[in-house]
Amino acid sequence: MTRWDVVIAGAGPAGSATALLLARAGMRVLLLERARFPREKPCSEYLSPETTRLLERLGVLAEVEHSAHAKLYGMKVVAPSGAAMYGGFSAGHGYAPPRPYGFALPRRRFDAILLDAARRAGAEAHEETAVEDLLYDAGAVGGVVVRRGGGTRETYRARVIVGADGLRSIVARRLGVRRASLPRRLAFTAHLEGLAGVEAMGEMHIGRLGYVGLGPIGEGVSTVALVLPLRVVREEGGRRDYRAGFLAELERFPGLRGRVEGARIVREVLATGPFATWSRRPVADGGGALLVGDAADFFDPFTGQGIYSALRGAELAFETLVPALAADGPVTRGALASYVRARRAAFAGKWVLERLIGLGVGWPALAERVVRRLARRPGLADLLVGATGNFVPARAALAPAALAGMLW
Ligand SMILES: Cc1cc2nc3c(=O)[nH]c(=O)nc-3n(C[C@H](O)[C@H](O)[C@H](O)COP(=O)(O)OP(=O)(O)OC[C@H]3O[C@@H](n4cnc5c(N)ncnc54)[C@H](O)[C@@H]3O)c2cc1C
Repeated sequence: MTRWDVVIAGAGPAGSATALLLARAGMRVLLLERARFPREKPCSEYLSPETTRLLERLGVLAEVEHSAHAKLYGMKVVAPSGAAMYGGFSAGHGYAPPRPYGFALPRRRFDAILLDAARRAGAEAHEETAVEDLLYDAGAVGGVVVRRGGGTRETYRARVIVGADGLRSIVARRLGVRRASLPRRLAFTAHLEGLAGVEAMGEMHIGRLGYVGLGPIGEGVSTVALVLPLRVVREEGGRRDYRAGFLAELERFPGLRGRVEGARIVREVLATGPFATWSRRPVADGGGALLVGDAADFFDPFTGQGIYSALRGAELAFETLVPALAADGPVTRGALASYVRARRAAFAGKWVLERLIGLGVGWPALAERVVRRLARRPGLADLLVGATGNFVPARAALAPAALAGMLW
């Protein structure tokens, strides 16, 4: 039986990027993916401007650019009353994004670009292969049990298992590190043609219950996500069909009224959630495994940073795994400790910012106040939008003067 250096569960952005980087460095990498590609993923399909730099390092930027896409130059946020603020990516605050825009394209195409690149780098990838369980050697994770599309069970052994299997990560659950936290929300996402008033920017519409994120993704198609509190959907006990009534639901938001009249759904409505979920720690207690992307943590989609986190997390995992695998013997929890530290250093500010924003949008009066303040203070709006675009350090948006300017 082949003993792999690394087996990765999940070929989304986190798994494919980790596979690509490790295979390029000469590791024997096996990537296991439950779905058959190309596959859909419920998402707003926008890549934050800083993600462009990561795509370049991964060697896939040209392919993304040559693929049909839209360019988003900033973000508009509409409060429950209809009051709106706009923040641009290109601004006078002294922090420059790699390009003045972020790309937006269907995940069906973007994720396939990354998986193909991982294969070209030398990773072996098996689709329609779901990881079901972990195998242990003397307390450390040492392999996986999978079920193939046809129903057969197989095992694969590796020195390290990477859990990149998304929001409902089986690897994180088997490691016993999975936790849930507030806010508890669900999302319904669809592709629309004919949505009126769509410009080269992302739009976030905050309502009394939930919010909508939307934007163009190229070829005249807009991607639209309706995010609702889990409590509301549960209380309705299945009486309301959010898939069938998707377009009508959008009419509840002042900034969308009248815009959906000529629109039609061109890709089925997909549901996902609940979030927020996070992992107590992103490495196995006994060593031999780590978590990347949503498997490690996913808070809320409002700030649209999940793909950046997945790709940046893959780079951090790579930086820890190369020296850990170069040494003989088991890859202990100690050998993976640098990954935990690197994630904290890279993401601590982002975690605080996305939690403040994610919780704040659940409080309509607060959202109203902040949007109105930022509409009057465009410099501050640019700074906040730049921080969610990952090229302005989160600490700049979290500075006391900036926070005060958003509230008073
Ligand atoms: C409504 C919504 C809107 C969003 N909008 C944005 C946005 O605009 N921009 C942005 O950057 N982020 C956005 N996000 C977040 C983004 O979608 C995720 O953070 C990102 O997809 C994480 O990548 P990943 O590789 O960790 O997980 P995923 O993309 O979920 O990939 C996980 C892969 O693992 C596979 N898998 C699952 N279980 C198994 C198993 N047992 N065995 C093998 N394979 C398995 C899945 O099939 C999948 O291919 C949004 C999220 C939601 C919910």
